[in-house]
Amino acid sequence: MERDFYKIKKYFISLLGERWVSDNTKDTMYYNRDLWPREIIASKFGVFKNKPDLILWPKNEEEIVNIIKIANEHKLNIIPFGAGSGVCGATLPLSQGHNIIVDTKRMNKILNVDYQSLILNVEAGAIGYPLEIQLNNKGFTIGHFPSSIYCSTVGGWLASRSAGQESSRYGKIEDMVVSLRVITGHGEIIDTSEIVSSEISGDLNQLFIGSEGTLGIICSAGLSINYLPKFKTYSSFIFKNIEQGLSAIREMMQNDVGGSVIRLYDELDSYIALGHTKEKKEGLFKKYVENLNGDFSDIFLKRILSFPQLLNSLSQLITQGCLLIVLHTGNESEFVKYCQVKSHKIAEKYSGKNMGEEPAKKWERNRYSISYKQSKIFYAGGFVDTMEVATTWDKVAELYHEVKRVIQDKAFLMAHFSHAYQDGCSIYFTFAAKANNYNDAIKRYERIWKNILDVVLGLKATISHHHGIGVSKLEHLRKQLGEGTELFKILKRAFDPNNIMNKGKFFSE
Ligand SMILES: Cc1cc2nc3c(=O)[nH]c(=O)nc-3n(C[C@H](O)[C@H](O)[C@H](O)COP(=O)(O)OP(=O)(O)OC[C@H]3O[C@@H](n4cnc5c(N)ncnc54)[C@H](O)[C@@H]3O)c2cc1C
Repeated sequence: MERDFYKIKKYFISLLGERWVSDNTKDTMYYNRDLWPREIIASKFGVFKNKPDLILWPKNEEEIVNIIKIANEHKLNIIPFGAGSGVCGATLPLSQGHNIIVDTKRMNKILNVDYQSLILNVEAGAIGYPLEIQLNNKGFTIGHFPSSIYCSTVGGWLASRSAGQESSRYGKIEDMVVSLRVITGHGEIIDTSEIVSSEISGDLNQLFIGSEGTLGIICSAGLSINYLPKFKTYSSFIFKNIEQGLSAIREMMQNDVGGSVIRLYDELDSYIALGHTKEKKEGLFKKYVENLNGDFSDIFLKRILSFPQLLNSLSQLITQGCLLIVLHTGNESEFVKYCQVKSHKIAEKYSGKNMGEEPAKKWERNRYSISYKQSKIFYAGGFVDTMEVATTWDKVAELYHEVKRVIQDKAFLMAHFSHAYQDGCSIYFTFAAKANNYNDAIKRYERIWKNILDVVLGLKATISHHHGIGVSKLEHLRKQLGEGTELFKILKRAFDPNNIMNKGKFFSE
């Protein structure tokens, strides 16, 4: 077996060149996980279970076709890899056989921009931020701004059904896709631009979006682009509670004045977001929350995380209200102004207190940095994770309160409501807790996830709005899909008959 694998490695070297094939320990350690917090906990306790056997960096489709051919012949497990910023374990090497990571980052070129039809054709390994800047320099934008824009790729966005911060205006990634070129697990090249989309044929792109590398490798994509907006307004309001804020967002979205960015924070998240105000924050709670707000010191964090129930109870004393920020953008200044004025009227109807521009501007200044502060909690011996669920307007508040209730004594919890639409909204929960050893930490972490997802399924809400499924939500996804799971298995057999693509994930048997 090892002799065979040595031959396979030699073959890959002859195919890609020595530099682009690695089984070096540093590389296999790095690629043993994505940013799924359960695996970050494991690495903090020195547990590294899932090292891949090889990492490959192909430069074009032809090399990928050959990789897939060898993988079929030798039943290798191929794991497509963008930038590894996924937070659900979707790139974890789980096969008992040989696990091969195929990192797409060398395939990062803009292939074409059709400025007349506003379509960008780009290779899948392109990282978000440099790509966006190249378009900005020409006066265009993709309109896709995930908080991970510095460290995620086009292929990763597509394979996990990503959402950017301006999804209320531009839609999620699946709304931007015009065409895809995919090499399936069978080794066939599918170019959806060659298949005329019609009422009868349906949209083939949607089969591959969200497939998490289990059907094939996305090599390039046609994405719709937009003129870079010339005008922008900033608004912020404080509402007495989340119910009033949610009513305001719903009405703004249903009257087309919700803006590009619309985010409502619960009391605790607002307290943190409004950290710049001169309002007094007294006592122990002040110390704790200021530490959560970025000025972390181990000792405080350790204390905070050891008493989630106490901290959750203290947070209920916050009476500052719930912050809403709204950014309107567009190319017609009068239209942008009109939307802002209309949204202010709606906010006033629900007793929103106008807080001016600064909280919204502050959000914009920090829009890509906030998530990275979480690493300090891991360094302090705790863990933190986020969960992005979604539901229709009639159940948003109920879902929020029910999750808070079941988690009250298990983790410190806060939330904001972003990605609003006409019919519903996503809730982004952040929870943090602590345990003294690896087994307790994993047990605690998994119990929190199970408790929350049980509530989500119980209310027939959606278990993932944009982070995807990976390993973390697989069990609940199967429950949610019920017999529908069989349909996905049929697709899997059609595109990947030998089951070589990303074993143990979404479409796997
Ligand atoms: C700090 C931080 C903030 C985040 N903010 C957001 C956010 O605002 N919005 C959001 O949607 N997500 C967010 N995420 C999650 C993550 O960034 C997204 O899921 C992103 O789309 C993953 O892209 P990636 O290139 O890193 O993919 P990876 O993590 O490398 O892979 C993700 C999945 O896609 C598959 N895959 C990757 N490339 C290909 C390809 N070419 N063909 C087929 N399959 C492929 C992999 O096999 C895996 O199943 C955040 C993560 C972090 C760490």
